[in-house]
Amino acid sequence: MEKLIQKQKDFFHSGQTLPYAFRIKQLETLESALRDNEKLFEEAIYNDFKKSSFDTFTTELALIYSEIKEVKRNLHAWMRPKGVPNNLINFPGKSYILQEPLGVTLVISAWNYPFLLLFTPAISAMAAGNTVVLKPSEIPSATAKVIDAIITASFDPQYVAVVQGGVTETTQLLKQDFDKIFFTGSTQVGRIIYRAAAEKLIPVTLELGGKSPAIVTPSCNLKMTAKRLVWGKFLNAGQTCVAPDYVLVHESMEPSFLATCRHEIEKAKYAFDNDNYCQIINDANFKRLVALIDKDKVYSGGTFDAATRYIAPTLLRHISFEDKIMKEEIFGPILPVLTYTNFTEALQQIKSLPKPLSAYLFSESKKEKKEMLQTVSFGGGAINDVVMHLANPNLPFGGIGASGMGSYHGKAGFMAFSHQKSILQKANWLELPLKYSPVSAKKLWFIRQVFKW
Ligand code: NAD
Repeated sequence: MEKLIQKQKDFFHSGQTLPYAFRIKQLETLESALRDNEKLFEEAIYNDFKKSSFDTFTTELALIYSEIKEVKRNLHAWMRPKGVPNNLINFPGKSYILQEPLGVTLVISAWNYPFLLLFTPAISAMAAGNTVVLKPSEIPSATAKVIDAIITASFDPQYVAVVQGGVTETTQLLKQDFDKIFFTGSTQVGRIIYRAAAEKLIPVTLELGGKSPAIVTPSCNLKMTAKRLVWGKFLNAGQTCVAPDYVLVHESMEPSFLATCRHEIEKAKYAFDNDNYCQIINDANFKRLVALIDKDKVYSGGTFDAATRYIAPTLLRHISFEDKIMKEEIFGPILPVLTYTNFTEALQQIKSLPKPLSAYLFSESKKEKKEMLQTVSFGGGAINDVVMHLANPNLPFGGIGASGMGSYHGKAGFMAFSHQKSILQKANWLELPLKYSPVSAKKLWFIRQVFKW
């Protein structure tokens, strides 16, 4: 690992990653490598958790291609020095900001969208002119192998390298002198990464998890609400960081909300009953999830099969914040539905919990939208939809508090891997004597006037 990092350092210091043309060419190489090997990616991810080729394209590859397109369209503008107004005390001169690559970067990713969560930050790192070490999750092992093979065949490891492995290898990586660590994973491991980075004062972006709420109010369009919620919750069998973790629905509409959701699940039977529906990633998660299903509270679903690691899309009712399922991030196809009587109190309840990665409101009321957006702190989210905000590269994506720090996608990703180097460039045709000795009361008076201006 030391050798690999040293090689990347030498390559970075050679300046070869700096030119715009180099960065574009490398992004094109990455895109071709992905497009040429789509079949391999599909097979690997199917082996790992039975993800369909439809979902692999729509929720992973398509978003990666769209990110590359977005970067190629804007990189020139993002790289340009940005002039800012100069101030009077620095006259005569000009002030501007340079976007400087950070150097040798490390991207560690989670298992649930194994391509998207690895390649999207890698695209940002490459666009910003860095070298990058990729540490895919070891859990989808077939996928990790394919990523390694394809990246190793397409890039010189002094520029982009893959290190496979789990806790031991990541711990080793964390001892190296990176210039940036970008981590996607659980809040618990996020703390370990942050601590290791702090030792070496390495800047981090932490994309973590948590319990993302959805609030459903009586003013909502119920049919559309159920359709979008059911899709976003059970996509990837609920193994999505921004999936609505639980729903808070007004008590007056709980029966109709549950019935409409069940209807939507039944309508989508094709998607949930065959090869279009993901498995739970491994036995440990399967057991954890099954233990969260309180049989007495099942409204629909609740069935499972250990041999195929299948859990039916499940709706739970009569849930309170005291239930076990409300004490941890679910990360599976189980949707607990809680009720509220007062909208402001429901928001207070959300605010009493750690700040979520996402929050969703289904409402047609201007007042409710304003109250929710102004009073609840969360990473990002949607009104009258779920999950889809992450598919717009113009929206910085990231958490806050326990759900993470920093953001990426589009320009935010480029900035996450760049240092803003501030430059004052002075002209030599004039030098005001004010700051030089001998000082005097008159000079001080003059300086006071300048600072008032
Ligand atoms: P995880 O934290 O267990 O693992 C993430 C990465 O950290 C993996 O590459 C793993 O090898 C490594 N790792 C695990 N334990 C480690 C340790 N002790 N020391 C060093 N490295 C270690 O997360 P996961 O199970 O892969 O993913 C699920 C979590 O990720 C959920 O909480 C989910 O919400 C979150 N997530 C967040 C986002 C986001 O964009 N914010 C996206 C996907 C997943």
